[in-house]
Amino acid sequence: MQFMTKSDYEFSRYLNTAGKKELSGIIRYFCAETPQEELSELAACANRLREKHYGRRVYFRGLIEFSSHCRKDCYYCGIRKSNFNARRYRLSEEEILSCCQNGYNLGFRTFVLQSGEDSYFTDERLCSLVAEIKQRFADCAVTLSVGERRSDSYKRLYDAGADRYLLRHETADVAHYDKLHPPMMSLENRKQCLYSLKEIGYQVGAGFMMESPFQTFDTLAEDLIFLRDLKPHMIGIGPFIPHMYTRFAGLDTPSSGRTVVMLSLIRIMLPKVLLPSTTALGTIDPQGREKGLKAGANVVMPNLSPVAYRSDYSLYDNKICTGEEAAECLHCLTNRIESAGFEPDFSRGDHVDLQKGGDLICG
Ligand code: SAH
Repeated sequence: MQFMTKSDYEFSRYLNTAGKKELSGIIRYFCAETPQEELSELAACANRLREKHYGRRVYFRGLIEFSSHCRKDCYYCGIRKSNFNARRYRLSEEEILSCCQNGYNLGFRTFVLQSGEDSYFTDERLCSLVAEIKQRFADCAVTLSVGERRSDSYKRLYDAGADRYLLRHETADVAHYDKLHPPMMSLENRKQCLYSLKEIGYQVGAGFMMESPFQTFDTLAEDLIFLRDLKPHMIGIGPFIPHMYTRFAGLDTPSSGRTVVMLSLIRIMLPKVLLPSTTALGTIDPQGREKGLKAGANVVMPNLSPVAYRSDYSLYDNKICTGEEAAECLHCLTNRIESAGFEPDFSRGDHVDLQKGGDLICG
């Protein structure tokens, strides 16, 4: 195929300028039609670009899933409001701080605080939590992933010390978005949140699920176009995995192949982006996280949540690493990453342009 005769730079430029139809064709080609040796070349190209900006380093972020209460009703999600079988929990501020302390002792310098959209966490409560974490662990970055809020709320949280914000856009195609979410949610608002977060000064992460219901090569092309416009610092993509108490129970769980292809395409399109190899990818394929890293990803997010609650933060079925203590999990993942030829890195792991104190040009 013509892409493989291009230099890495040309391929990157091409992905940044191609129209929707061409992008859709490229995605189809690599997801459905490519011979194995070209897939290896695709991954090799992504790897070279990752290596150029980040070397063999894989950044570790400590994930703290601090509440499974949610007022939203995303149709695919196991902790959505109308799943009455979900066990709801909420960690106290002391419990969250003790997860951070545990993580800090293990070497983590980034904490990712994720939850459902839990109304208990008002701006006051969240700001005081963020400020306390930053006070106790001044050399750490705090990432929030708590869903859609008003932009003045995002600003208050930023002023309280939050450094980064993860909010996957889920899909950049309106009709697709509306098939995955109830009418009171909108893609427009989701996108607006992302643009506000970026403007406020956060390092921002967008992203989507691979092989979510109703996804097509065209909707994926829209995702690439949205991402290259937004230019987020981080992009979280993982496979969709059905949850038994959702309307999508019983759909097939995808294999890892297409997620791995999209990781490479995204690395090539936005060479400097921070790209996690997700737990969901490790869940559907025992070698999934290693495959993701070898295809251009450079971040992992092991779980620091208390073991007693882990299985209750159930976004999808059969999630891995719900039974082990943080230290155990970390030890296992570190070994695996080293064996795969990468270097675990526990620094804050900012986007490369920010590490050098450079301009906020990313992608
Ligand atoms: N409330 C926060 C966090 C959501 S959970 C927010 O709105 O951003 C984090 C991510 O898990 C979601 O953005 C979604 O992409 C992913 N997720 C939810 N259900 C999933 C499923 N069934 N399979 C795979 N990923 C899922």
